[in-house]
Amino acid sequence: MDQFALRDGVLHAEDIPLPRIAEEVGTPVYVYSRAMLERHAQEFRDGLKDVPRKHLAFAIKSNPNLGVLRVLARQGYGADVVSGGELERALAAGMAPEDIVFSGVGKTRAELAQGLDRGIGQFNIEHEPEGIALAEIALAKEMTARAVLRVNPDVDAGTHAKISTGKADNKFGVGIDVAPAMFDRLAALPGLQMRGIAVHIGSQLTSLDPLESAFTRVGRLVADLRAGGHNITHVDLGGGLGVSYKPGDNPPSMADYGAMVARVTKDWDVTLMFEPGRVIAGNTGVLLTEVLWVKPGATNPFVIVDAAMNDLARPALYDAYHDFVAVQPSGEKMTASIVGPVCETGDTFARDRVTDKVEAGDLAVFRTAGAYGATMASTYNSRSLVPEVLVDGDRYIKVADRIAASTIMAAERVPDWID
Ligand SMILES: *Cc1c(COP(=O)(O)O)cnc(C)c1O
Repeated sequence: MDQFALRDGVLHAEDIPLPRIAEEVGTPVYVYSRAMLERHAQEFRDGLKDVPRKHLAFAIKSNPNLGVLRVLARQGYGADVVSGGELERALAAGMAPEDIVFSGVGKTRAELAQGLDRGIGQFNIEHEPEGIALAEIALAKEMTARAVLRVNPDVDAGTHAKISTGKADNKFGVGIDVAPAMFDRLAALPGLQMRGIAVHIGSQLTSLDPLESAFTRVGRLVADLRAGGHNITHVDLGGGLGVSYKPGDNPPSMADYGAMVARVTKDWDVTLMFEPGRVIAGNTGVLLTEVLWVKPGATNPFVIVDAAMNDLARPALYDAYHDFVAVQPSGEKMTASIVGPVCETGDTFARDRVTDKVEAGDLAVFRTAGAYGATMASTYNSRSLVPEVLVDGDRYIKVADRIAASTIMAAERVPDWID
């Protein structure tokens, strides 16, 4: 069930009317639904009911808020992290170290050491020198690092170029053709326990076909590695499942995804690992904003809202579509461009869109903002860092404060040698 619904003409998050949050916390503000997070976490697990051994690691780059992570930790999720900072967040949220997977194309030696010191479950190695460095660091600590090799299956994920990661010319993983020999060399290193393969071909995938091709290639590689004498116990299938951003979008269901995975992997005899991000968090959050002005344009008016590209970067970064709906819709529609206050033409959320009619002072939300939303926020134009709220039934709490521009400024200084 969608927990962002109209009741008596007013958009609610679960049982909380959004005007109350706007009044008490101010806008712009991200609002998440605990019930939806839990339901998606459960649905993803249910979708994989025919996979006997599995490990679920939420891709915390999609929403690293500690409150959100705690909800998912209680659902039995570990974390997929891509930096030392995310690693500390996962631990702070109560995720067990052994349930943490460390991905990321440019881990530093310090981050590799941090992962070992924290006792994380698995390193996803991106290339041979990283594996060699990890082995050396582990050996010096008299430890053994559990690791898998990330391969690049060279498939076109059919998504936006900036979030495509599985084509041969993307920076991620190593080619499947070179993987067996590299695996041999890495597996021979003391300090490293090479136990499997990882793959992640991109995000916001709206077809299962590229995933199936990638997994099929990985299946062949696993058979080759076993034939070469390796003990392959884990395969990490990454994340990437898309969500619906606009009416008419029809991404594969979690059940269809799970059925495909179960079919393709049925003879693999490994623990399958998953790193879902967007599919868990995307539709569980909205960005609540106030309309500041409505300004006439050459063709259609501009609706200027108090949220901007620094709060929600996806439209500016990927031309992403976010549904824009009034919190108290009148039923009337208008055609308008929806823009923020930042001094960039790229600060445009929608161009010439038919949308709910709004006026200055009205509240509205950008939907499907729970993933890759607040986490990408910046303070560009000396704007505040956007706050976040988690709703649970008829209560809510601020799970991240608004960080004022003055706080950021307080961390700066003017050199005293400039008079
Ligand atoms: C970003 C990322 C994910 C999550 O992707 P979603 O599309 O949000 O599911 C999973 N694994 C890796 C390695 C990633 O980089």
